[in-house]
Amino acid sequence: MSEARPEVRRQGLGVSPGISFGRAYLIGRDTLKAPRHHVEADDVDTEIARLHKAIGASDKQLAKIKEKLASENESDFHIITAHQLMLHDEHLVEAAKAYIKDELINAEWGLRRAVDDIRAVFDSIEDEYMRERRSDVEFVFERVLRNLLGRETGPLNPPPDAIVVAYDLSPADTAQLHKSAVAGLITDAGGKTSHTAIIARAHEIPAVVGLETITEVIETDDLVVIDGAAGIVIVNPTAATVGEYRDEQRRQMAASSALYATRDLPARTQDGVDVLLFANIDGPDEIADAIDYGAMGVGLYRTEYLFMGQETLPTEDTHYQTAVSLLDKLAGRPVTIRTFDLGADKLAPFLERADLDEANPALGLRSIRLCLAELGRPLFHAQLRGLLRASAHGPMKIMFPMISGTAELRAVKVVVDEVRAELTAEGIAFDPDVKLGIMIEMPAAALTADLLASEADFFSIGTNDLIQYTMAVDRVNEHVSYLYEPLHPAMLRMIGDVAAAAAKANIPVTVCGEMAGDPAIAPILLGLGIKELSMSAVSVPEVKSRVRAMKVSDAQNVVAAARRLPTAAEIRAIVSDYVTGLKPT
Ligand code: PEP
Ligand code: MG
Repeated sequence: MSEARPEVRRQGLGVSPGISFGRAYLIGRDTLKAPRHHVEADDVDTEIARLHKAIGASDKQLAKIKEKLASENESDFHIITAHQLMLHDEHLVEAAKAYIKDELINAEWGLRRAVDDIRAVFDSIEDEYMRERRSDVEFVFERVLRNLLGRETGPLNPPPDAIVVAYDLSPADTAQLHKSAVAGLITDAGGKTSHTAIIARAHEIPAVVGLETITEVIETDDLVVIDGAAGIVIVNPTAATVGEYRDEQRRQMAASSALYATRDLPARTQDGVDVLLFANIDGPDEIADAIDYGAMGVGLYRTEYLFMGQETLPTEDTHYQTAVSLLDKLAGRPVTIRTFDLGADKLAPFLERADLDEANPALGLRSIRLCLAELGRPLFHAQLRGLLRASAHGPMKIMFPMISGTAELRAVKVVVDEVRAELTAEGIAFDPDVKLGIMIEMPAAALTADLLASEADFFSIGTNDLIQYTMAVDRVNEHVSYLYEPLHPAMLRMIGDVAAAAAKANIPVTVCGEMAGDPAIAPILLGLGIKELSMSAVSVPEVKSRVRAMKVSDAQNVVAAARRLPTAAEIRAIVSDYVTGLKPT
């Protein structure tokens, strides 16, 4: 259908700033591959049950989308109703079941065969409108398949400069999309601190997530404008809208180059307090940017990206070489390397094959728990050997994620001691004083920070997870993202208590969650006693400019007032008042 389509505006969560223009490229429909294999006669019932379960899940998802659309867009509403009817159409369901039973094939293949038969019927119809309904069948198929597979996607190949549109993207997909030089990312699902969002920011790809139904309104090749800071997506923009956003793009670019010009100035407050600003990175290729943006070093290197999307597991040597290359590139600047933090939304092929079948992966065998369990322990051991060997080459700290308390920290140290003893026995050099620190990212750790402080060399507060676990809100779930609130009074109390415990024990404490890179929040963190922040490299200039404009003594007064306020909105308002009164430096 080629007649001009009206401009559509949607508001989502802006997770990576920047304005971009491009042609939409929908991911899903044609890239999702249905695995095909034969099954035993005994497994037929299981395959049919899987199919029913996936259809039920698809139906529920569509019902939810409809609920939201009802008052907004009648025609989309009807299309989704048609999709729901298709889900239960006997030509689809009964035919797929018959294929499974008669040909002894898996549910995905049976469904694909049934869909192919329906497509063939549509293809033979003369009427163009009806022929186009074929894509609706594919759409329904793709949704059921996604549910059968648990959000699986094949290799992604969008053209350069495309705006990628997807229901959701895994962090591994996003990293891969960066390599294809896409212009922007927009998704139905996702939250501000989902790893997909973090990667988009690291690679400076404008992105808007949590749009709920954007995949229902955009078609491949539609012209799209994204405002990644404001979280706005415009489909089929008018000439006036394009003009307006071109102006805004110029304004934003001028503002960021003015900030960029100040990158070598010290991050010193007006009352003389030096704040250390570090970068969060996912690999050595991000170092050049981090230094360029004025980061003093790396406060968080997420090593799990050595595992994600990789069929071969990293060896001790991979860890060693990567860490040494990092230290070389940093040329004397410090780096904090976090041992691998896999699980929940960060999956690796070996973990998927283990098929843990967890009802709540965010509360499951992830992160340090995986490292201490049989499944992950050899990998953890290899990583520690590689890292300790690299520690002889430059200033490095090692950090452990998701520590729940002192018992777990001690269990980790037992493994570190084993590795140290091995290296010593083998005559291999390492830094015997390498600092071992922990992430504070669950309430249990925050509440026992005073106890942990006597056994950890440093703390790094992972606010992305700390908010998730404190608020009981999944950081990648767009339906509850309104509760994901860094300035909730509970967060202020926890960060303040952790900072106080670290100060008392005289150990360093950094904040390395995404809130560290939000200049609007900097006065709160500094007022709570934080003097080290680690963030996406691109945020460093803006945070530095805020730090240079403020006084810690004023920030402490803002915090004292904020601590008496009952809601995040009220806290945000007083910080905003303070920030508005600051003079630019
Ligand atoms: C955090 O949880 O704040 C953090 C920095 O770790 P990640 O985002 O990798 O979970
Ligand atoms: Mg975390």
